[in-house]
Amino acid sequence: MGFTTPGRPVDLGALFPELAGLARTTVRLHPWQSAVTVRESSLGGPVLWPAEEAWPVCSADHPDPRPLTSTRGRELQRRLKEVRARMYELSGAIGHPESSSLSREFTRLETDIRVLRRTEFADGPAMSLPMVPIAQFYARDFPELPFPEAADVCQILWCPTEHEPYYSPRPVVWWRDSASVTAVGAATEPDRALSDEDSLPAACRISPERVVEFPHWLDLPSDQMRERVAEWEEGQDWSYGEHLSTAPGSKIGGWINWVQDPRWPECDRGHRMDHLLTVATAEWGNTSWRTWMPLEERARTDFVKQVRFELADGCTTSTTIGLGEHFDAAIHTIQGRAVVSESVQESVIPADSAHPDRLDLMIGDVGDLYLFVCPTCPDRPISVESQCS
Ligand SMILES: [Zn+2]
Ligand SMILES: [Zn+2]
Repeated sequence: MGFTTPGRPVDLGALFPELAGLARTTVRLHPWQSAVTVRESSLGGPVLWPAEEAWPVCSADHPDPRPLTSTRGRELQRRLKEVRARMYELSGAIGHPESSSLSREFTRLETDIRVLRRTEFADGPAMSLPMVPIAQFYARDFPELPFPEAADVCQILWCPTEHEPYYSPRPVVWWRDSASVTAVGAATEPDRALSDEDSLPAACRISPERVVEFPHWLDLPSDQMRERVAEWEEGQDWSYGEHLSTAPGSKIGGWINWVQDPRWPECDRGHRMDHLLTVATAEWGNTSWRTWMPLEERARTDFVKQVRFELADGCTTSTTIGLGEHFDAAIHTIQGRAVVSESVQESVIPADSAHPDRLDLMIGDVGDLYLFVCPTCPDRPISVESQCS
């Protein structure tokens, strides 16, 4: 199956000539669940791993749900639970005198438990979790990737559980020469008990599509530029950020569709790193679907009307109705509260905001994980950033 992004409804390069030089091409990956082989590019599919190389494991300090069994361990865990409950009780009382000492104690207890865990579970599986493939890209499909000399396949595996500092999976990248892999090794199955189910991808075939992007709103070169775009947006049906500039979803290269503030990393030698890959929870959102949902997907998607409105007591809420249905503010009430009829706003959204047959990941709270690479350093150092709303 192929996927086609509809053409942009507005030609930004023509509208803002100063943007023309900032256009970049991204490769939308359009993953969809399907059997895929080690000889193909994929997201979440099997990788061409040499039989003589051990399957990679991550030995970071992973979250481990198994209870400690020593007397001291049990006492630390009991106290941690007590402190957590008290912190929860005080969560609404900002600046309560007890709060800061509780939070210090909480951190201390967590550290003590972690140290003790190392003793109690010295050979514990949580200390060596098998990694899982998240992506494999062959140079024949992605010539734009910075393949080092003699390499023609890029493999990205990640450790499928929380890691500091973003509580996200931790990826590692391998660049190989596929011709050097004569015997293919089998992957070690992920540890389902200790892995985070939301970080285990479904195997997906990909359908690379190159589209032109413009910088994210916050990556625009000046405030003056942002003001010009904001002025133009008034009265328009399209938003620069949601509909016109950066593609949502999983993609290679191009600009980043930041969920929060931009953070372009540098490598240790001070080179600005490139966007290697975005792994996204969602391929589009309830607003961005209008210009970024592929035509093929649009043809098989059901839509509904989302109606947002204010209630007489000032609360804002929403409901969804069928496309052919009419929302009557005069007769609609929520628990006896009337709708402020001037506040009603309707928009069309996909009926199902989950992406069934896609990567099946949840990165943070519907977030994205961005992977960066230094195209200058020969060992291609990487950097990772994970953002969610
Ligand atoms: Zn790990
Ligand atoms: Zn570098």
